[in-house]
Amino acid sequence: MLPIAKTSKSKKAMRRAHHALRGVQVARCPNCGRSRLPHRMCGNCGYVNRGLSVVVHETTE
Ligand SMILES: [Zn+2]
Repeated sequence: MLPIAKTSKSKKAMRRAHHALRGVQVARCPNCGRSRLPHRMCGNCGYVNRGLSVVVHETTE
């Protein structure tokens, strides 16, 4: 089966108007203020959420 009519440049552009990629969202760590990915552990201080944090060992390099 083939499409009944050729898709116009306008229709093609309207469809692709929603295809743009968005940048990575960043959230602030409420513990130390550094930026971190949402729903991820803070790489700076190890904070996950209230009452849960991971001990991060400092690497001096
Ligand atoms: Zn933090």
